[in-house]
Amino acid sequence: MCASWKRREGVQDQTLIAGKLPGSSGAVSSVNPPVHRFSTTLYKSLDELWQPSAPYIYGRRGSPTSRALEEALSKLEQGDKTCLYPSGLSAISGVLQGLMRPGDHFLMVDCAYGLTRQFAEKSLKPNGIEVQYFSPTRNTDVASFFRKNTRAVYLESPASQTFQVQDIPAIAKVAKEHGILVIVDNTWATSYFLKPLCLGADVSVQSLTKYVAGHSDVMLGSATFASSVGDKIAQHRELTGICVAPDDAYLALRGLRTLAVRLERHQSSAIKVATQLSGSPIVDTIFYPALPDDPGHALWSRDFLGASGTFSIALNEAAQPHLGHLFDTLEFFGIGYSYGGFESLIAPMSPNWLMGKSGAKTRPVVRLHIGLEQPDDLIRDLFRGLDRLTAVIQKSQS
Ligand SMILES: *Cc1c(COP(=O)(O)O)cnc(C)c1O
Repeated sequence: MCASWKRREGVQDQTLIAGKLPGSSGAVSSVNPPVHRFSTTLYKSLDELWQPSAPYIYGRRGSPTSRALEEALSKLEQGDKTCLYPSGLSAISGVLQGLMRPGDHFLMVDCAYGLTRQFAEKSLKPNGIEVQYFSPTRNTDVASFFRKNTRAVYLESPASQTFQVQDIPAIAKVAKEHGILVIVDNTWATSYFLKPLCLGADVSVQSLTKYVAGHSDVMLGSATFASSVGDKIAQHRELTGICVAPDDAYLALRGLRTLAVRLERHQSSAIKVATQLSGSPIVDTIFYPALPDDPGHALWSRDFLGASGTFSIALNEAAQPHLGHLFDTLEFFGIGYSYGGFESLIAPMSPNWLMGKSGAKTRPVVRLHIGLEQPDDLIRDLFRGLDRLTAVIQKSQS
C-alpha cells in the first residue's frame, strides 16, 4: 500500500493538503465542503429508504463534512478507513474498547500520554484485560513480552512528554509474526510527518485538537486503519453512539489546508529555539529527536519526514523550587497543557512512569510548544526568563 512513500509522497501531501482534498467539490462547485448539519435524513420514497446503499442514513453516522475529513485523513495516512471521535482521548479509548476483550493481554509503551495510561488502568484492567507496560527503549525485544493472548501493542512515538522514539517498523514486524496488532499515537508528528501504517502499524490515532486543527479552537480525534480491524472498531464506535459535530469537522479540515506550512514553520523555529537552549547552563537536557545528539535522532531521521514544534527540557535540579520565576514572567508563552496551536505554550510535565525512576522524582520536565511567532522573540523571551530564574537560584544559595 505504501511502497516508497518517504520524501517523494511527503511532497505530494502538500498539494493534497492545499486543496485537492476529497470533499472539495460538492453539489455546488466550491473549494470547501459546506458545514452540513442534519440529524434526520429524508428519503424521496420508501424504495429509496430501503436501499441499503444510501450514503447518509442518519446524522450520527456522519455527514458530508465529516466524511470529507475522514477521507482526507485516510489519504494522508495512506490508510483504508478513518473514524472521527469527539477528542483524541475518545479515539484512543474507542479503538482500545473496540479491539480488546476480557482475557486479552495488552502491551503499552511506558511513556504514553497520561490519560491513555489511566484509561488502561481504570477501564481496561477492571474489564478483565491484562495491561503490561514496557520501556520505550525496548524495541525488537518487545517480543519477549508477547503471550498467547496478547492482542495489541500500543506505541506513542515520540512520547508526547519525554520524546523517546520507538522503532515502529521493528516492533510491527515481530508483532505481525505473532498476529498482534500495533496501534500508534501519531499526534506529535501528524500524518504529514509520519505514516505509521506505512511502517507496518495497523491503527494510527491522532488528537486532531493539536496540530491538525492547529488554532486551539476545537477538540477532535481520529483513528485510521490499515486493515479489516477498522470494521470492528467502526462498528463499536457506531454502537456506542460516538459522532462528531460538522462544525468541528469543518474546522479540522480547514486546519489541514495549512498543516504543511505551519508544521514546517513550527519545525524550523523549534530547532532554532532548542539549539539555543542547549547552550544555557541552567538547561540540563533537551528531549527533542530533531536534535542530532538526541538518543532518538537516528530512528527519527530514518522514519519521520520532519519534527513538529513540541519538545521538553529538564532544568538543573536547583531550578525546581523556583519554576514560577520562569513561567509567570514569559511574554510569549501561555501556561497551558496543550500544543499544536499557532501560539507558544509552556507546561510542567510530571510523567508518572518517569517519576517512579530513581533520581527523577524532583525533576519534572518543562514542555515547550513553539508557536508561529518570530523565533528570535521566543528565544529572547525564554532567555530573559532563564536569567531571572538563575538570579533567583543564586540569591537563594547565597
Ligand atoms: C492531547 C493528546 C491526546 C488527547 O487528545 P485530546 O484531543 O486532548 O483528547 C492523546 N495523545 C497525545 C499524544 C496527546 O498529545
